[in-house]
Amino acid sequence: MARTQHPESSGPTPIILPRSRHAVSRADIGEHALKVLYRLKDAGYQAYLVGGGVRDLLLGREPKDFDIATDARPEQVRRLFRNCRLIGRRFRLAHVCFGRDIVEVATFRALMDAESPEGEGVVTEDGRIIRDNVYGTIEEDALRRDFTVNSLYYSIADFSVLDYTGGLEDLEAGTIRLIGVPEVRYREDPVRMLRAVRFAAKLGFTIAPETEAPLFELGHLLGDIAPARLFDEALKLFHGGCALKTFEMLRHYDLFRWLYPATEQALAHEQEGFPITFVSRALHNTDERINAGKPVTPAFLLAALLWEPLRLRAEALEREGMSAQQAQQAAAAQVCSEQARHTAMPKRFALPMREIWAMQPRFRLRSGKRALRLLGHPRFRAGYDFMCLRAAAGEALDDDCQWWTEIQELEPEAQRRKTAGGPKRPRRRRRTKPRVQDVGV
Ligand code: ATP
Ligand code: MG
Repeated sequence: MARTQHPESSGPTPIILPRSRHAVSRADIGEHALKVLYRLKDAGYQAYLVGGGVRDLLLGREPKDFDIATDARPEQVRRLFRNCRLIGRRFRLAHVCFGRDIVEVATFRALMDAESPEGEGVVTEDGRIIRDNVYGTIEEDALRRDFTVNSLYYSIADFSVLDYTGGLEDLEAGTIRLIGVPEVRYREDPVRMLRAVRFAAKLGFTIAPETEAPLFELGHLLGDIAPARLFDEALKLFHGGCALKTFEMLRHYDLFRWLYPATEQALAHEQEGFPITFVSRALHNTDERINAGKPVTPAFLLAALLWEPLRLRAEALEREGMSAQQAQQAAAAQVCSEQARHTAMPKRFALPMREIWAMQPRFRLRSGKRALRLLGHPRFRAGYDFMCLRAAAGEALDDDCQWWTEIQELEPEAQRRKTAGGPKRPRRRRRTKPRVQDVGV
């Protein structure tokens, strides 16, 4: 790859790829992001596409979103766009909104150190950055980003790509490498550990040895991250189209337990048995849906991740004398509130998750009005998918999945006939060995 040096740079000298030597085309940049880039440039500011947008376009992939970096301050950005709001305390960012499409504009920032004046950058005693609003130059901005491949800048002024950190070489080699001293960078922001795994899994990249080594040691730092932020991060980890691989990598680095400790405990307890098969299938299923462009809800995945903890807890409560139904409800409340101490459990996902769980025993009853009522449940489809996933992973549910599959296809009158009469079957809790060959439901 031929590279030229930047003539006017004062800090670290970037490698510059002119337009003729890279694959980032304006045709592939979202129209709203382009609009923002041009408006900033026309107002006399520097404006670059940065982060995942540049990385993914250089790799020939479709970016998830477009992030913009500029020397304009957030207030200056706001003055340029009517449809702009400033967000964030930790990072003050400008969001330029075009309907549902949001273009994120960040002002160049400098790397933090403990001496930064109060109110701008703040680093805690253990090295964590809790506020980061010290503005800087593009060179400084490049060094404070997380990975080299995320620190490439596409200039709207001359369409060149600037590389201050070796990101082009790492992109070519397929390497995820933290900028700076890895342990320091992880301590500044432990979520970078999850991001390292996410990008490695998503891009099929290898984590550089010095970036990888601390992952085995520093997972406990995630315990200090706000549950709301960890929940957002968990969504990105598991709704990015390669959840199964991400999950396996997270477990490899012993990071998973800092997100879902009760799940990890259940998995470790029964390493090769039902729980791992079930969770793996749920993740695989999510990947398949996402990659086929189908909608997914976090409620389904949460229901799957916490299903085994729920069952273990419910069984324990039943042994203490509760009825099955009471035990399930009490266990659901306990599992939810314990999980919420690690990753947030927003009601809009926790409630449907609990509905999916509460529906499960009802699939065992195939006769009478109750069966018909279940068919009309607003979340029937999610509950049914979940039940079939349990069956496929080896729970002893007889032919429930097939029966409920068939009944959905019948006319209402035939449905009534099918559910008429017939004895209610007793509940069974026996498990059969999982059928490994047909993944998914
Ligand atoms: P994608 O959008 O595909 O998930 P991305 O790399 O664009 O990946 P974003 O979360 O959108 O990730 O962040 C945009 C950019 O901001 C990143 O590429 C990186 O340069 C920088 N960044 C984000 N989070 C951090 C962090 N925790 N520490 C340092 N830099 C970060
Ligand atoms: Mg992005």
